[in-house]
This record gives sequence, C-alpha cells and structure tokens, in this order.
Amino acid sequence: MRKKNVINPATGQTIAEVPRVDKENIERAVTAAQKAFDEGAWPKISLAERRNLLLNVSQGILDKAQELARLETENTGKPLKESTFMDIPSSAKTFEYFANNLEPYLKSKKIELDSGAESQLLYEPRGVVALIVPWNYPLLIASWKMAQALAAGNTVILKPSSLTPLTALRLAEIINDAGLPQGVVNVINASGAEIGPVLCSDPRVDMISFTGSTSTGREIMRFASESTKKLIMELGGKSASIVLADCDLETAVMGALTSIFLNQGQMCTAMSRILVDKKIAKQFSEQFVEKAKKIKLGDGLDPETQMGPLISHEHRQKVISYVEKGRKEGAKILCGGRIPDEPELKKGFFFEPTAFGQVRPEMTIFQEEIFGPVVCITEFSQEEEALRLANDSSFGLACSIWSKDLERAKNLSKKIDAGTVWINTYGMFYNEAPYGGFKESGFGKELGKEGFLEYTRLKHINYHLSGEKPLVSQWYAL
Ligand code: NAD
Repeated sequence: MRKKNVINPATGQTIAEVPRVDKENIERAVTAAQKAFDEGAWPKISLAERRNLLLNVSQGILDKAQELARLETENTGKPLKESTFMDIPSSAKTFEYFANNLEPYLKSKKIELDSGAESQLLYEPRGVVALIVPWNYPLLIASWKMAQALAAGNTVILKPSSLTPLTALRLAEIINDAGLPQGVVNVINASGAEIGPVLCSDPRVDMISFTGSTSTGREIMRFASESTKKLIMELGGKSASIVLADCDLETAVMGALTSIFLNQGQMCTAMSRILVDKKIAKQFSEQFVEKAKKIKLGDGLDPETQMGPLISHEHRQKVISYVEKGRKEGAKILCGGRIPDEPELKKGFFFEPTAFGQVRPEMTIFQEEIFGPVVCITEFSQEEEALRLANDSSFGLACSIWSKDLERAKNLSKKIDAGTVWINTYGMFYNEAPYGGFKESGFGKELGKEGFLEYTRLKHINYHLSGEKPLVSQWYAL
C-alpha cells in the first residue's frame, strides 16, 4: 500500500507516514460495512448494548484526551488550548449524548386515525453511511457524524482529510477497544479526488454525510446522483457579525476577534465580515485592530501561542491571493496582510491576523470564502442596510448580532438568511440543538434530534383495525 507523509504545519516537518488507500481498497471498506450492516452482529445488538458501546467510545476518548489533544494540535497547528478545551472533550460528549438519547429519539410513534385504522412510524437505520470530513476540526466533525450514524444503527466508512488523518486513526483504535463489532466502523486515509467518484457513486452506500467546501459538495452530489442516496451537505460560509450601536463595545470587539481568528480563521462559521454601525465604527475598528496586533503567533504546542499556522503552504498561498485581490480592489489593510518576519515562524505556514477596512459588498473579499485569518469591516447607517449586507451572500451558514437590546436583536435574527444566529455570543454548538446552513452553505442538519433523525429512514406502517372488511377488499366486489 502507498504511504503519505503527514506534516506539522507549524514546522513543515513530517510527523507521521500513513498508509494511503487507493480506489481498489474502497471496495473492501464498502463490502465490510455492508456485511456488518446486513449480516454481522450490529443489527442484532439491542439498543441498550448499542448505548453501552458508544459510552465506551466516549470514555475511550476521555482516557486518551491529552494524547489526542496534542496530536490534533501537531497535525492541524491549532493552539493546544483549543484542542484541549474544545475539540477533544466535545467529541467525547457527542458520543455520550447520542448514546444516552438514542432510545427516546428512535422510539416509534403511533398515529391515531379516525377510519378504523392506525399507523405506526418507525425510525430505521439507513445502512452504510460514508462520512467525509475536512481538516479544520478533524476529530470533532468525525465524532459528530459517527456518533449520530452509529447511534441510529448504521455502519460507517469515515474518510478524514488526507492532511489530517491522525486523530481519526486513533479514534478507530478507540472504537476497536470499545468493543464495536468488526466492519461497523471503517476508516480510510485517501485522496478525496481519487476515491470520491468510486465511494460516492457506489450503490451500496446508502447515505453520504459530507462537510467541506461547496465545490467538493457539488461534485459529491453529482457522483451520488448515479444511485439515489440520502445526503447531508455542510458546506462553506461567509458569515457576518452585525455590530449595532447599542452593543457593549468591549464584548463585541472581543467576540468579533475570537469569531474570526480562532483556529486561524479556518472555521466554516468564521465571522469573516464585520458590519458595524457608522456611529461606533471608528472606536470599534481601532480597538479591534489594537487587539488583533497583539495576538501571539506560534507553535500550537507552546502554551503562550494564541494563533497557529494555516494548514498548508498551498492554503496560505490561496489566502495571500485573496489579500492581494482585496488590496487591488481598493480595500484598506488595517493590520496584518503579511507572512510574519520572526525567524522562528519561517518554517511553518503562518500568516498575520488581517483586517481590511472600507470593504464594499461587490469586492471579492466580501463575497468569497477565504478560510483564513482575514476579516472585512464594512460600515452601515441603518439596521435595514445591515440586514441587506448580511444577506448579500450566496452562503447562509451563520450570523452573530451584538446588541444590548435582546428583543431588537431577536427581531433582526428572524430576517437573517442563515441556519444559525448567535446573539451576543459566537460558536456555541450544542448536542441538543441542530446545526446546518442555508443556500450554498448546504442542506440537512447535524446534532439535535433533527440532525440525528437525518441518519434514519422513516417507515410508515398502516393497519386496518375495524371489524368491517377493509374497503380495498370490496372495491371490485364482482
Ligand atoms: P474540501 O472540500 O477540500 O475537502 C473536504 C473533504 O472532502 C476531505 O476529506 C477531502 O479529501 C474530501 N474530498 C475532496 N475532493 C473530493 C471528491 N472529489 N470526492 C469526495 N471527497 C472529496 O474541504 P477542506 O479544504 O478540507 O475544508 C474546508 C472547507 O470545509 C471550507 O469550505 C469550510 O467552510 C468547509 N467546512 C464546512 C463546515 C460546515 O459545517 N458547514 C465545517 C467545516 C468546514
């Protein structure tokens, strides 16, 4: 089998060599998943046993939390604080949550009908589910998808990004130790472009849950259309922070800062457009820029580091090309916009936290997803203008509103064209609450009962109850 080097983006050095699956091996993974679903132990296991196995996985993640956090930081570059307090514990919590809720969520429903009949609704697993995930939250997004898919009774094939396969491979070991039967979980490290057409068009794959860019999502939809499949598409974003004049300025500045620079801005929900009321725009921008300049860049393993490197040299080049476009189209750099000078940062793929002022909606940097630490600041005069600017996007993933007037913010949130709106906060994901985008940000939900049920198929069973013969038996009473 071919091998692929895995790089630490903070140093540019190889940290692992991982076997890379090619097209031919996809057949083995799909066959194993299908067999485990149709004939293996998985469908025979009771819901209580399924719950216990998933709780074992959750505990297994917690038992290895330190090692996993370090590995995630080495592979993605994100600061250790982020992997330690967000990615790893949230992954364990998701397995725990869906383990504990699978029974109530899967409970069948009865529909009383008035015509001597009754119906029952059954939530069944879909079968083999392919989970295709990106590199920005490798363990967390894999855990969201896997916990829901397994809790619903499916078998899975997980394809992590070939840039960041390390924690997904550790998760496979944890799942093995947790006692899940063979074939239920199959993790493949592969190039998406190479195996995508084979995996996503295989008729034995019943569902694809994808998180990644809108362009890859479109390709996957094309492959999937060859055999009809259920799809969840969690795609790109260009989300807006709306900063109203009646906000708590310090909270809004700090909130807006975190919501673009966390994980180096490589977040689907990154608030990469700040729309700020003209009345407070000068103060807001000055404070924002002052704080952005103080963010400490470095190796994520260093406890002092607040921002790590971008994921790869190629990705940094893409971010730089957007910054150049912004300059050319007339936006004004307020801070950053360069590769840092410090010698200790030269080997990694670092880029300074960058803010553009005087950004107009027709500019490329206002419209396209940059997926890096680059924010556009645009001023507005009226609330209606803020709303128009926020919705002036082909994406519709998330939005945040900063205001002391909760009722005003709630009213505004109803008119926002995005799947999630945060008011005076950002980035709060809950296992209890569904998450997913509108427009080019995709369709389908993850998390919550609504997200969980996406991983099931709904069957309607109708039965005749009255003592009378059913109408259908008398239709041709010849
Ligand atoms: P990507 O689309 O390049 O890759 C995502 C995954 O798809 C990877 O595993 C990749 O190997 C695989 N892939 C690539 N080409 C494929 C193909 N032809 N067939 C099948 N699989 C293929 O995205 P990325 O660069 O890893 O991640 C960044 C993107 O992900 C951004 O656009 C970001 O907004 C998006 N994202 C969205 C969410 C969300 O919840 N909406 C969350 C995180 C990231």
